Amino acid sequence: MSAYVIAVANQKGGVGKTTTAVNLAASLAAENMRVLVVDLDPQGNATTGSGVDKTAIAKGVYHVLLGETGVREAVSESPAGGYRVLPANRALAGAEVELVQEIAREMRLKNALAEVADDYDYVLIDCPPTLTLLTLNGLVAADGVIVPMVCEYYALEGISDLVATVRKIRQAVNPKLDILGIVRTMFDNRSRLAVEVGEQLSRHFGGKLFSATIPRNIRLAEAPSHGMPALAYDPKAKGTLAYRQLAAELLQRTGKAV
Ligand code: ATP
Ligand code: MG
Repeated sequence: MSAYVIAVANQKGGVGKTTTAVNLAASLAAENMRVLVVDLDPQGNATTGSGVDKTAIAKGVYHVLLGETGVREAVSESPAGGYRVLPANRALAGAEVELVQEIAREMRLKNALAEVADDYDYVLIDCPPTLTLLTLNGLVAADGVIVPMVCEYYALEGISDLVATVRKIRQAVNPKLDILGIVRTMFDNRSRLAVEVGEQLSRHFGGKLFSATIPRNIRLAEAPSHGMPALAYDPKAKGTLAYRQLAAELLQRTGKAV
């Protein structure tokens, strides 16, 4: 069966996209899934957080997008994660400019991933917090989008942009693209506002909202500085367990549960 490709996206910054991509990858790997994380952000946080040195990348997603290498030659193993990473660093910011000249520039990632579709069960794409050509490549390559959201006052406004973008991409280039689910991140159940916004989301998005809610948990924030997902850093932490629950739900939703 070929890989299910998921873009983790939200135009809002700092909502837990990278934390979700990395910890979902580790949790799916723990369920014996073959997982690839694609770091599409020049910040390279998913690369570092997976324990891959972004200053030592000979080949990465940048070279793949420019057609200089295939995905297989550019992936690294996450030492503690149990999954593979197509890494990124600052050089990726240049791809944006260089790709403008190229034909089918928004199809680059999709075409490259087609070659490894049988190597993985899941491909998780960590998108940057902007709607650039890089994010566009992520959304065009994806079967579904996971949207991490912080339950705060402006949360709903932010997501309407993303919903509109997904609709446009579906009409123009990728008819199968859909929002796979919305996940509440950094959730504080003692905050009345967070609980209220969480309920609003549930009314608005119904079944699209994942039941698994990711709590604000210091272990999730500490793990990247040790170059490992929280599952390796602290397997019993509340945040770790929440991501494992999210992975179980995802397996159900995408029909890969065993
Ligand atoms: P960007 O838009 O810059 O790519 P992002 O959406 O990828 O950001 P993250 O980098 O995952 O967001 O998270 C932002 C910060 O919040 C990081 O320092 C991360 O460690 C921390 N963080 C994320 N999720 C949690 C959580 N559930 N509990 C505590 N800290 C968290
Ligand atoms: Mg990020």
